[in-house]
Amino acid sequence: MSAPAAGKVTCDACPVLCQITEGRSGACDRYANVDGVLTRVDPVVVMSRAPQRVPFAQRQDDWDGDLVGGPVFVTGVGAGTTYPDYKPAPFIVSSRHEGVDLVTVVTEGIFSYCSYRIKVDTDRFLGPECATVRHRGEAVGHVTTIEYGSQFLSLGGVHHLTGGSRKEGRVTCDLMMALGNREAVDLQVDGGAQLRVQAGRPPVVDGVEERRMRVGCGSATIGIFARQWLGHVDEVVVVDDHITGVLTEHQAGKCLDMPPSGIRIRGRRSTPGRYFQVARPGTGWGGTDVTDPLSIVESFDPTIARPGLRLLMVSTTGDHSAWYVLDDALRPTPAPMPAAVTRVVERIGENCEPAVATVLFVAGAGGSLRAGVTENPVLLTRSVKELLTRVTVGGEPAYVWPGGGITVMVDVANLPARSFGWVPTPAIVAPIEFTMRRSDYAALGGHVDRIVPVSEALAHAAVRQLPWGAARPWPGAPAGDAR
Ligand code: SF4
Repeated sequence: MSAPAAGKVTCDACPVLCQITEGRSGACDRYANVDGVLTRVDPVVVMSRAPQRVPFAQRQDDWDGDLVGGPVFVTGVGAGTTYPDYKPAPFIVSSRHEGVDLVTVVTEGIFSYCSYRIKVDTDRFLGPECATVRHRGEAVGHVTTIEYGSQFLSLGGVHHLTGGSRKEGRVTCDLMMALGNREAVDLQVDGGAQLRVQAGRPPVVDGVEERRMRVGCGSATIGIFARQWLGHVDEVVVVDDHITGVLTEHQAGKCLDMPPSGIRIRGRRSTPGRYFQVARPGTGWGGTDVTDPLSIVESFDPTIARPGLRLLMVSTTGDHSAWYVLDDALRPTPAPMPAAVTRVVERIGENCEPAVATVLFVAGAGGSLRAGVTENPVLLTRSVKELLTRVTVGGEPAYVWPGGGITVMVDVANLPARSFGWVPTPAIVAPIEFTMRRSDYAALGGHVDRIVPVSEALAHAAVRQLPWGAARPWPGAPAGDAR
């Protein structure tokens, strides 16, 4: 590395190698030149379990009333990076948990291989599977599968960070940092909806905030509420983009000895009382493009139907409903909905959970950052797979994907605020911690000569202390210990 110009320091925390003037920060705003010393700008976030106030008898005259006490877990938030990982991680700290000697290796990883799975609770049509998702006009991901009451997006990832134009990489990186830091982001799906998503908040689809997650598909809704409709209706159609349910044809109606109504529904009949493709996907009734529910009713069989037959049409969230009575020509005629039927429609709504967007961060930690933990990286991978090493992200226990590598996944809603940063390579910076027994750390070739107690590690660091909720597993416990 060439020597920095006079009055500057070179930051070697990422491949950009910023030359930083005194009093200024580098391109990512994470490092600054403070009086000629390269300094990580943000404080290290530590988690404190059961923080207590200092007992009165132990107070010193200069006690400032801060929360102290209880075990402390050092997270990677604000810890700093050690690119290109030829040197040990910024913090390798010792601790004890219920008599067990532990080591936690703490760093801020630079992740080129990372992405998000976004679970959007909505029935409304977001776009075709595999459709490109854009942010500020750039491709940043795609629509994946529809799950039960939700649609998934895959956003970010190395392809968009590195495989497109410089602008695509930069916009993708901006989007990923915002998502991880729980900010609202605007997305456009090619051939689909305009979306606003934010971790833990209701999604906004085409300008309308989603309130309810469906109670189930049309068939499930029939099954759940069939008995409550019995005696109050002659037919119910639950309109759904995937499986529209028809009560009297459905197994539930048959088990209740309901006579057929003679209704003929458009679409492809699957099993009795279950219809596919009754309409096109959309933002109308039950995730279809239906605005007039009668548009999916082809006719009534005159040999079965009768004037006065009572028909309820309802969506899978109860947001849409209509009540009809057949006239003498067997045409459904709108009529005031009886109170008993209204109560069941309201109960559908009551059984819908609040719709939210969930932002799951997925990252590959099986690369060079392992060298900051051990001189023989594959032993760390094996240790994680053998459940000897616990992996946490900002203190949050991570799901480690089966198979090769260390591919972790966490819900960003559980991470400390502003856990995510970026570097202009472009890549995402995220905290990661590995905790294991001290003996296991030595066995995997860890940097044991760099282990220091927490108090020593933090002696000269700016620290932000956060309480750790008692109901959550303590991140500083050995792997497999959920207390
Ligand atoms: S962009 Fe990279 S080199 Fe520049 S300050 Fe940030 S971490 Fe350091």
